[in-house]
Amino acid sequence: MSDVVIRARGVHKWYGALHVLRGIDLDVHRGEVVCLIGPSGSGKSTFLRTINHLEVIQEGRITVDDRLIGYREDGDRLVPEREDQIAVARRGIGMVFQNFNLFWHMTLLQNVVEAPTRVLGLSPAEARARGLELLDRVGLAEKADVYPRKLSGGQQQRGAIARALAMHPEVMLFDEPTSALDPETTGEVLAVMEELAREGMTMIVASHEMGFVRRAAHRVVMMEGGLIVEDVSASRVDESTGRVRDFVVRLH
Ligand code: ADP
Ligand code: MG
Repeated sequence: MSDVVIRARGVHKWYGALHVLRGIDLDVHRGEVVCLIGPSGSGKSTFLRTINHLEVIQEGRITVDDRLIGYREDGDRLVPEREDQIAVARRGIGMVFQNFNLFWHMTLLQNVVEAPTRVLGLSPAEARARGLELLDRVGLAEKADVYPRKLSGGQQQRGAIARALAMHPEVMLFDEPTSALDPETTGEVLAVMEELAREGMTMIVASHEMGFVRRAAHRVVMMEGGLIVEDVSASRVDESTGRVRDFVVRLH
């Protein structure tokens, strides 16, 4: 397997006449934590969503572990992949959204075990044991039998992370995971993400949490107008003389 886990080349996306991704090239290496920043509307969410094929692209290639997601090569053309194949390819990509997205009619543990039981065919007992382990890892072991509406935003988001991890993803994508949270609960969620980063998870995190960048990120990639306008090492964010620096200064 290549050291590059996520590879985007010449990615273009239009929503109707609106050209929102205008040629994205990005390599993310195994174990790397890339923070995606940029003004609202610059295309961060769209780009993350194209990686696991929640959005289709009109030009370019995206591979995860050298595998196209959503398409296959036919000569030099791309043709849409079958739905069942897309579902298989997506298993390796965990995604956490801004608004938690837990299933409301299921307890937290049911949320976490649903996909591994249905998709990976784990026995209920195995799935339960692993689900409890994951909930413990995000600090929610005591909440296993609680419904999401009884959980705080931070607990829901940690539950969403546990649910994504239950599928053993190769990579995790986070789309502004703390922007709907208050500062206290933001810290709990970032702590779980930092732990994942330390364990070597390959991650792309769209977030403007500069504390997270300083503690856990390796690179900061800035988007503007559907393009990557700067790509710097996280340790150099404060010395960057370019767009990243200007943007980060204005966050305070
Ligand atoms: P960001 O996450 O950086 O704020 P988005 O990826 O959400 O940016 O949006 C990029 C651009 O695409 C914006 O102009 C936005 O209005 C537009 N856009 C996003 N989603 C859709 C959609 N489903 N249909 C049409 N336009 C969209
Ligand atoms: Mg967004």
